Amino acid sequence: MSTVTFQISIPAPGGFIGNTCVNINCKKYFKVSVSDIKDEMFCPYCGTSASKMDLRTNEQSKFIQEAAMEKAKEIAYKEIDKMFSNFARSSRSSKYITVKHTPLNYRAKNIRPSIATH
Ligand SMILES: [Zn+2]
Repeated sequence: MSTVTFQISIPAPGGFIGNTCVNINCKKYFKVSVSDIKDEMFCPYCGTSASKMDLRTNEQSKFIQEAAMEKAKEIAYKEIDKMFSNFARSSRSSKYITVKHTPLNYRAKNIRPSIATH
């Protein structure tokens, strides 16, 4: 089993990334310029610090999930294509089985982020 790594960037409309405070008593939404994004950030309203990962808004989490799913699908279909074309090739000399495979060539759909309008 090999590990597949891919990166999905959080959409930054107008160069800003939306964040939601992790403090349950605050939960305020604030925007941070992409150039000011750090691994650990502070809420401008209550001062609670959190990792940038934990500050994701629901829209961002949803976007990342959907985009990752599409990417994973593309990778999985590519593996299936490889598997079946190998199978088809190796069965060519067999008189008992005929395997034909048309590659799926699946391409990840372009997921559009829903822009948060807070
Ligand atoms: Zn806060």
